[in-house]
Amino acid sequence: MATVFLRPGKERRVSTGHLWVYAGEIARIDGTVEDGGIVDVRTFRGQWIGRGFLNRNSALAVRLLTFGHEEITEGFFRRRLADALAYRQRVMGALPACRVVYGEADLLPSLIVDRYGDVVVMQTLALGMDVRKAMLADLLADLLRPSAIYERNDPPARRLEGLGAQTGWMRGEADPLVVIQEGPARLLVDVARGQKTGFFLDQRENRLAAAALCRDAAVLDAFCYTGAFSVQAALAGAKDVTGIDISEDAVVLARRASEINGVGDRCHFIAANAFDELRRQVSVHAQFDVVILDPPPFARTRDAVPRALGGYKEINLRAMKLLRPGGILVTCSCSHHVGEALLLETVVSAAADARRAVRLVESRGQGRDHPVHPAMPETRYLTCLILEVRPA
Ligand code: SAH
Repeated sequence: MATVFLRPGKERRVSTGHLWVYAGEIARIDGTVEDGGIVDVRTFRGQWIGRGFLNRNSALAVRLLTFGHEEITEGFFRRRLADALAYRQRVMGALPACRVVYGEADLLPSLIVDRYGDVVVMQTLALGMDVRKAMLADLLADLLRPSAIYERNDPPARRLEGLGAQTGWMRGEADPLVVIQEGPARLLVDVARGQKTGFFLDQRENRLAAAALCRDAAVLDAFCYTGAFSVQAALAGAKDVTGIDISEDAVVLARRASEINGVGDRCHFIAANAFDELRRQVSVHAQFDVVILDPPPFARTRDAVPRALGGYKEINLRAMKLLRPGGILVTCSCSHHVGEALLLETVVSAAADARRAVRLVESRGQGRDHPVHPAMPETRYLTCLILEVRPA
């Protein structure tokens, strides 16, 4: 077994349970090992740290799989996958649609597995996982018994690992347009052409929490994607829902989803840039009881935060102007770098500019199938604030 020795003092982060070793933290590698292969990791003085896979072509040179001395075999991955599944069953019940594996938080770095009913979607976002994907697909076929497994390996992050894009059926074949059940709603997931793995499972509980505040409400769902918040709101008794998304494909699915749930007459979807459409709605003095803002991550890196905050502030300011007194704002950030404190600060600053007073009803995070690894703050990325908005 080849061994990676860290530079002096560079064991600090991994000794708290963090799973990443950066290239610049490595002093030397003893023995021969191909990229994607397993290495032992030790301190400069040779003390044991753990075992993981190596990729010399990545800034994240080692992703640790274990701090123990266990062999990294098929049996190892079977145990980790079974643990991940057992966790979901415990905290969420038998869920037909949920994230079964959330990478690092399941001690399976860079592996994402989403289950949409009978169809499983898999991503292997680092080389060490990617070279094992056939074995992983076999294990998932055995553990989950899906009718098909789809590989959705097209996120740009793979390039950082020297990996190209690859998509297609790995096991079996099915209609890529899957109907899932989420609470009372049936929602549509296009595993081949949709965003990410086709759906935003991380907002499941937040959608149900928001919907509970939508009885008899006029609702604006900005960045609605395939209408999941919209349909949940309508099913919970909203009298009128307007969804906005820049993606035409998403809006087409949102309309279909509202129809198959029997709420098509109360839902209207607009394919438009939400920044422009929010501004237009303000200019025609539109008013809503609930506004939902679930934008894409405006800040993907720390450097992008100042600019991103401008974007968050703008949409929140417009949303407040669109709310009737006592209305509800559901505002989200899926940027790890814009967490609860920063988002709340931005919302409060928008409220001051809009001459509104806000109260925080509830602060929420990502769903339970996306657990946070406390040693890896990167695994916490979703904030969902529910606020009441009144004239100041
Ligand atoms: N609320 C959705 C998820 C939203 S993801 C759900 O619960 O499923 C973010 C969405 O923002 C994507 O659908 C993307 O197409 C859309 N988007 C990105 N930039 C946009 C813009 N400028 N205007 C409107 N929509 C945008």
